Amino acid sequence: MSLIVQKYGGTSVESIERIQNVANRVIETHLQGHEVVVVVSAMGKSTDHLIKMAHNISDHPSKRELDMLISTGEQVSMSLLAMALQQKGYHSVSLTGWQAGIKTESEHGNARILNIETKRINRHLASGNIVIVAGFQGMMIEEEIATLGRGGSDTSAVALAASLKASKCEIYTDVKGVYTTDPRVVNEARKLPAISYDEMLEMANLGAGVLHPRSVEFAKNYNVTLEVRSSIEKEAGTMVEEEVSMEGNLMVRGIAFEDNVTKITVHGLPDEMSMLANLFTILADHQINVDVIIQNTNGNQTTNVSFSLDSEVLKETLEVLKQYRSHLNYDHITHEGHLAKVSIVGSGMISNPGVAAQMFEVLANDHIKVKMVSTSEIKVSTIVDSSMMIPAIECLHEAFELDARKPVHV
Ligand code: ADP
Ligand code: ASP
Ligand code: MG
Repeated sequence: MSLIVQKYGGTSVESIERIQNVANRVIETHLQGHEVVVVVSAMGKSTDHLIKMAHNISDHPSKRELDMLISTGEQVSMSLLAMALQQKGYHSVSLTGWQAGIKTESEHGNARILNIETKRINRHLASGNIVIVAGFQGMMIEEEIATLGRGGSDTSAVALAASLKASKCEIYTDVKGVYTTDPRVVNEARKLPAISYDEMLEMANLGAGVLHPRSVEFAKNYNVTLEVRSSIEKEAGTMVEEEVSMEGNLMVRGIAFEDNVTKITVHGLPDEMSMLANLFTILADHQINVDVIIQNTNGNQTTNVSFSLDSEVLKETLEVLKQYRSHLNYDHITHEGHLAKVSIVGSGMISNPGVAAQMFEVLANDHIKVKMVSTSEIKVSTIVDSSMMIPAIECLHEAFELDARKPVHV
């Protein structure tokens, strides 16, 4: 008998009617003769509400108590789904992350899954149950509850599919699959029949919230057959797999974007061999993640270094840099907020060196100023003004022939 892991996201379980709909879909799969393990997210926006309550009661809620609180969201939906299945006459049991044997590293709020002891799930499956597992959570070696980072239920599902050697992992959500860009932002976005693990990983890391980046890492490392599809519509979704050929002569598979970016420039750093290492070691030691980095050497033996980061950590970063001013020996610091990152992603770029140039030309023609750039084998990211983010996505979407209106030449 083959095993299928299905994951239903927040919108898909946001009400009793939606939970009934999920129960019906799970039963359909069960009646096709599969064993089914279901991972659920918290209902609707309940994780946001829980976080808000924590901040209403405390300025700095402790990470442990925050995990205790936000892990409850998934317990509500898992038990309601199990009850819905039982009510319809099926055997079902719900399990929290620790009951399901999901072991994580010792880190609150953003823990990685280390391994899963599947004995208990297998026992329940063997006795004919549909097993429901709470997404987004696991247990540390210290027997503390850990959560996996926002959107982490995807990762719970793919990790379970890998550990249980499932034949497939299906991610059910509120869109019909992975699109060329967020269909809620660009009307012409087109559903992709398939996307490679590497492209999906770039898209997810660059802001496409449809899959949690670590879920794609798991899928790639354990070769999990992964499909993203709608929990309402019945049509096939998007397959995420090892290799996917490009349609026609297209070079770009999709466009990802992220708002809320700030650029910091440290002026007048000494032009010395160890300077970059010193600067970024200090930031790394303070768990500050920087993204795009640019270095400009001045004529007078000093250097300016600019880097982009999430605007949320601006204040903390400025404080750290101030604290190390004499050690780093820089002149002064400036920063620029209200920026966004717009990235094109596609494996077709590997063999086409002109893609970055084409991207800059398209943006220049629309008078969109590029402030920073970074590239990898299969992506080009640009930092632009926030106000230019949507125009940039739209003109790139059209220029790289991703629009739904355009016939795709195969
Ligand atoms: P869930 O609660 O089911 O996990 P999410 O909100 O986390 O759902 O992810 C689905 C959302 O991802 C969609 O509603 C869509 O707005 C957004 N999204 C961003 N980029 C893309 C993309 N390229 N393709 C599809 N959806 C995308
Ligand atoms: N409920 C969690 C969140 O809102 C996890 C998830 O939905 O994947 O981030
Ligand atoms: Mg999600």
